[in-house]
Amino acid sequence: MKKGKIFVVGFGPGDYEHITKRAIDALQQSDFIIGYKTYVELIEHLVTAKSIVSTGMTEEVSRAQEAVRQAEAGHIVSVISSGDAGVYGMAGLVYEVLIELGWTEKEGIAVEVVPGISAINSCASLLGAPVMHDACTISLSDHLTPWTIIEKRIEAAAMADFVIAFYNPKSGRRTRQIVEAQRILLQYRNPATPVGLVKSAYREKQNIVMTTLAEMLNHDIGMLTTVVVGNSSTFFYDNKMITPRGYQRKYTLGEEKQPLRPHQRLKKEAEPWALDQETGIAATGYEELEVKKQVPEQIVPKKSSFEMATLALSLVTKQAQPKPTFIEQKMEAIFEVAVSPGVANKFFTPEQMRTLADLTGDGTMEYTPDHQIVLKIPTDNPQQIVERLEEVDFLVAPVGDVLNVKACDFCYGEKADSIPYAEALQAEFGGMKLPKQLHVGFNGCGMACYKAVFDDIGIVYRKSKFDLFIGAKPVGRTAHAAQPVVEGLAPEQLVPLVRQIVEEYKANAHPNERLFKYFKRVKKILNFDYVDMATKIEIEPAPCGD
Ligand code: SF4
Repeated sequence: MKKGKIFVVGFGPGDYEHITKRAIDALQQSDFIIGYKTYVELIEHLVTAKSIVSTGMTEEVSRAQEAVRQAEAGHIVSVISSGDAGVYGMAGLVYEVLIELGWTEKEGIAVEVVPGISAINSCASLLGAPVMHDACTISLSDHLTPWTIIEKRIEAAAMADFVIAFYNPKSGRRTRQIVEAQRILLQYRNPATPVGLVKSAYREKQNIVMTTLAEMLNHDIGMLTTVVVGNSSTFFYDNKMITPRGYQRKYTLGEEKQPLRPHQRLKKEAEPWALDQETGIAATGYEELEVKKQVPEQIVPKKSSFEMATLALSLVTKQAQPKPTFIEQKMEAIFEVAVSPGVANKFFTPEQMRTLADLTGDGTMEYTPDHQIVLKIPTDNPQQIVERLEEVDFLVAPVGDVLNVKACDFCYGEKADSIPYAEALQAEFGGMKLPKQLHVGFNGCGMACYKAVFDDIGIVYRKSKFDLFIGAKPVGRTAHAAQPVVEGLAPEQLVPLVRQIVEEYKANAHPNERLFKYFKRVKKILNFDYVDMATKIEIEPAPCGD
């Protein structure tokens, strides 16, 4: 007699688009399909099985036994679960029945567990990205598990700041469990913690609700709902629920970024919470990030780091403050900002230096090739920092992929005629967010001794007019100067022309694509045709460190 086989198939949320090919293959080669009748109805159209066995919800054991019986009789059988068969599905039960019978992989029938998309993943995709950090699933069904155990698991997950996906939160007869779960969570988490309620993900009656831990019970929660509770850093943005990857957010004016390069990771100064590889000891204090047991009334929601950065940016750019869309975000915040005495001015005053020292405190100050000092300051009040920097006449700018105007010193002001144009460029474009950092070099005479022609956009003032260069590759073994595109541009045409170039680049460049790469790819910016300025000598580009 031929040996049978059991496929334990997870078919995902229930729509055709999200079932795997392996699952369809398994279903189509099966002689028997065995499953809970609601699930069988969901996949019935996909199968050609001779026999379909659908049973009631509480008859899991008999389904597993029937599957084993048919497989031992030489048939190919698919036992189906929604989601993933190995996550609260039928896989474990099938193995348990087989083990009772003394089954071994070598001598018994073949068993293959076909994975599917579990609710934590399908619901997360509909909510945004809430499971970007450590997460767990907890079933609130105390049908097979004592409630005292479930209670401990909820408390442990709450205490350890896991994102939690609650499966089986409620049914006709189990209504108290989700109330208790909320009560336990509120001992550790802010009432404003984001919560997503997803009912029937990817099915006809799909329903998604974004709410908070405090408010979640005011919404419909049923047997088909998965409740996703964020951790202490989860936030809402534009109707999405997002959990950031790390506990420390470094931010700059108007730009969220992850500035750590690979070699900086796990270094004490950058990530002080990591386990010391020599001593096996990790610094304490970081584990208490907002997960101490608290009385809800004592919790005061704070402004998120993004809100603070946005607020600070609005102060610098004098724009109206945008309405905050984050509910809450509690992270250790490092504020990054670039300062310089001015576009043309290269002199720091003693008062400016004292202010920098005072403000930086435990942070860092780094002088950069862009004629700026970049400050990294731990703070929950970036607005105050910006105000104090501006009080001592610093030019304050965001860092990262932004436009930066670098001017020469105009021979210490002796050749000052073009300074107003440099300042006009800074006022309009300084700090503008772009696909990649873009330097505008501005030099006050044809000497171009500050090397404007080696910037992304080079501007040289000559005989009361401007020469314009675009697309330098300023660094690397294949570095080259920018391409001269205009000579003798009338001063009043300078800002409009730069605006057109920047707008075209901003609208059409790929993320991370520098201006010279963009120019090389599209071959034309405005009416300027690309000319290959690179040396004809064949030479391999060398990345950093080589
Ligand atoms: S580029 Fe010309 S104006 Fe500017 S510092 Fe050099 S020599 Fe002076």
